Amino acid sequence: MRAVGLHADVIVATSRAFQTTCTLVRSDSEAFCIDSPVFPDELEILPAIAEQAGFGVVGLLATHADWDHLLGRYAFPEAPLGCSETSAARLVNEPGAAQRELRTFDDELYVERPRPLSLPSAQRLDVPGGVEIGDRELVLEAADGHTDDGMAVWIPWARVLVAGDYLSPVEIPMIEGSARAYLATLARLEPLVEQSDYVVPGHGEPLDAVRAAAILREDRAYIKALVEQGEAAKLPLARRTAEQRKIHARNIARVGRPRGPGAGSEPA
Ligand SMILES: [Zn+2]
Repeated sequence: MRAVGLHADVIVATSRAFQTTCTLVRSDSEAFCIDSPVFPDELEILPAIAEQAGFGVVGLLATHADWDHLLGRYAFPEAPLGCSETSAARLVNEPGAAQRELRTFDDELYVERPRPLSLPSAQRLDVPGGVEIGDRELVLEAADGHTDDGMAVWIPWARVLVAGDYLSPVEIPMIEGSARAYLATLARLEPLVEQSDYVVPGHGEPLDAVRAAAILREDRAYIKALVEQGEAAKLPLARRTAEQRKIHARNIARVGRPRGPGAGSEPA
């Protein structure tokens, strides 16, 4: 696992699995852990990374309720979890889903965990809105489209945007929510990307603002092409691996093909 400091108050750890990112953010004596790495050894070392840097982790945030972002409790078992209303609702409405998907991953890779994943009932945060940390406040923006739930976290004093599963340099847009919502999220994130020093995607290394803006434009073009042309939509140049083509195929199945000129291709 790689860990890099983006700012005196921001550390990003990138997992070996899916390059999933985990962001530690601090203000005063309080720190939050946003999302999580995936492998047990990475989760085990996370408290030491935080402690060495003087980050006292008092809470967990999840950008959305996909299992690979929800493992922070393995590192900080006492910390309460905060997330958007939409993610909290998903955790309630899909009980055990994260645990099942984690088990599937672990079974496939023969990964052993010290204990089953326990997820506390999440604290519902106002999105759009803010959450206090130390003497400062994190800004929360709705970020749905990848899934039907989620939020992005803007750290104003560090000018870091924790985007959730958007703006990834390694993964094309994965549309499990809706294309329309995805495009709206990109439009909401755009002004934050422009004023950021760094953007932390859910998967892949932290990006500077120029690179993140370029990925945002690529992703917008890809989704528009997907909606309008279906299968003929071209994948972004740097993201055309076999795995990305599988995601593309799932996107096509989800978003569907236009039925005729000007026909809406996506169920509302
Ligand atoms: Zn993810």
